[in-house]
Amino acid sequence: MSERTTTVSESSTPSGQRRTIHVLPEALINKIAAGEVVERPASVVKELLENAIDAGATVINIAIEDGGRTLIRVADNGCGISPEEAPLAFAQHATSKIESTEDLFAIHTMGFRGEALASIASVSHATMVTRTHDRPQAVRLEVRDSVISPAVPCAAAPGTSIEVRDLFYSVPARRKFMRTDATEFGHIHEMVLRSALPNPQVAITLAHNGKNVLELPATSDAQVRVSEALGRELHEQLIPIDFAERDVRIHGFAGQPALARPTAKYQYIFLNGRFIRERSLLHALKEAYRGLIEPASQPVAILFVEMDPAGFDVNVHPQKTEVRFRDSGSVYRVLLAALREKLLASDLTPQVRTANRFDAPTSPLPPSSGTAGSGLSRPDVSETRQIIADFFKQTTPMQTRIAFGAEPSVPLSPAPLAAEDSRTGTQGSEFAAPAAEPAATEPIHADDPAAFGRFVQLHNTYLVAETPDGMVIVDQHALHERIIYEELFARATRGPLEGQRLLIPEVLPITPRQRAALDAVQPLLLDLGMEVTEFDAQSVAVQTFPSLLSKVSPREFLRDLLDKLLELGSKLNREELLHEVLDMASCKAAVKAGYPLSQEEIAALLARKQQVDRSSNCPHGRPTTLRLSIGDLERQFKRK
Ligand code: ADP
Ligand code: MG
Repeated sequence: MSERTTTVSESSTPSGQRRTIHVLPEALINKIAAGEVVERPASVVKELLENAIDAGATVINIAIEDGGRTLIRVADNGCGISPEEAPLAFAQHATSKIESTEDLFAIHTMGFRGEALASIASVSHATMVTRTHDRPQAVRLEVRDSVISPAVPCAAAPGTSIEVRDLFYSVPARRKFMRTDATEFGHIHEMVLRSALPNPQVAITLAHNGKNVLELPATSDAQVRVSEALGRELHEQLIPIDFAERDVRIHGFAGQPALARPTAKYQYIFLNGRFIRERSLLHALKEAYRGLIEPASQPVAILFVEMDPAGFDVNVHPQKTEVRFRDSGSVYRVLLAALREKLLASDLTPQVRTANRFDAPTSPLPPSSGTAGSGLSRPDVSETRQIIADFFKQTTPMQTRIAFGAEPSVPLSPAPLAAEDSRTGTQGSEFAAPAAEPAATEPIHADDPAAFGRFVQLHNTYLVAETPDGMVIVDQHALHERIIYEELFARATRGPLEGQRLLIPEVLPITPRQRAALDAVQPLLLDLGMEVTEFDAQSVAVQTFPSLLSKVSPREFLRDLLDKLLELGSKLNREELLHEVLDMASCKAAVKAGYPLSQEEIAALLARKQQVDRSSNCPHGRPTTLRLSIGDLERQFKRK
């Protein structure tokens, strides 16, 4: 039986014409494979870049013409290919990177399928010039219509340069799908970033139609690479992450919440240096920022996950952006822990922007001169700071620093009272930390550098306070919301909270659907000190309610909570439920905008800001506080 004409059975085309089953010629097989690997010019760039990085290159220069339609050239100084092996590079399933099935589960290179060059060459005019470091000469070979020309010696530096011209000349359907040059180049630019971010040790340049678009010098500092690649304004807004657990290491950078974007575009997750889009990890990232950014926005993050390649399979899809983890739950948890730990420990208060906003990576950046971060250095304010500090030392502040303790709501005149006396005076102020329980965190001492000096309420809504290095503007409702949220959260996680028994239980009518929603949150409500019991067939009664929420009507709270839960549907897990309950409780209990506060109340509120986690943002992720440093003020007033 001849292989090419083997007839297994008869099939028919949609029009009913009979055709025989036959094995396809090699050139056509390559074109079909190319359909999977080479979707658009950016896919070619991706494959060529990966090959260059696998070859150990430290310098890669990329030249593009007309969005990649007419020319894509990637030149590297990597190991090169010997003249004998060079033709093999273009053969289907020819690779130097794996040998056996076992290797497939221990991939340490970007490529391994051995199909990229063959696929690319089947849909373009490809030329390769390559030279290994131990040879005096390079060779050049061309592929035309899947026929590889003999290697011809030529002069070139060690390394490999691959030129791909007239992409898709042989596949009109693909050619039609190409977008404008600008769009295709945008995809190429993005692809280059994905190779550049995990490889700061490699110098990379990208030119379009002869103009330099990206010039990334080699650096050993990953943060420098990130900000050179994505925008220098980003530099000071990146929180470095480095965390290891269960043989998984996660390092990289989490963007300040203020950087959050409407799309997930600025979320780069790399697995052993390979850019991946993996739903559960993206979810973990979003989850880590819950309550720090608005639900509709997306955090900025550049994260590198390193783990044993035996723990996942990248051979799921030809483009290799999808992976399958052996234990995706554990990678999810490590990523979440890595981010949470760092976000909780960091000061996330947004700086009032006085400089340009961070350059969106979509717009090709002006070539960088290699002076990384030079535009970011702040003016030296230490001297000014000292002068201002001295000035305030001489004057008698209207408001002395208050004693920060578990009960900061202390009347301030004539002199700060000792903690024992504080039960008198503003006892019962809704802004004081509750007297019955110690604060969740260590009390902050009055000499804490983050403590606030003088303050004032404006428009019955904003608190403006002096800090050692400038000032902050606080949204009183947002901050109070966050404080109540965190205190309830901390206490709920320490064990069930004792609720205050209501003298007269509050009765609430309930529908069967609401009852089902109530059943789901019942255990949580109990932990928070809210006991709800059956009253009769159509109603329930609230028996106890947390004293922290004394300003809230238990009936109204429960009614609105059940409405909210029905609206959200039944698929919430415990953590999400807790969030919803705390969210509603804190919103209802928090002081509203437009509500006048006394000096004592303001002091108490600001003091408690120091004691809770995530105080920079309200539970919905909106900022509670804006910061303006002395340096910012000086810049704005052109004093510097
Ligand atoms: P893969 O990368 O999956 O092995 P490719 O088709 O991309 O498959 O490349 C085939 C082979 O050609 C590689 O395994 C490698 O040996 C060689 N090669 C390709 N590009 C380069 C390069 N820039 N430098 C050195 N060798 C290269
Ligand atoms: Mg490859």
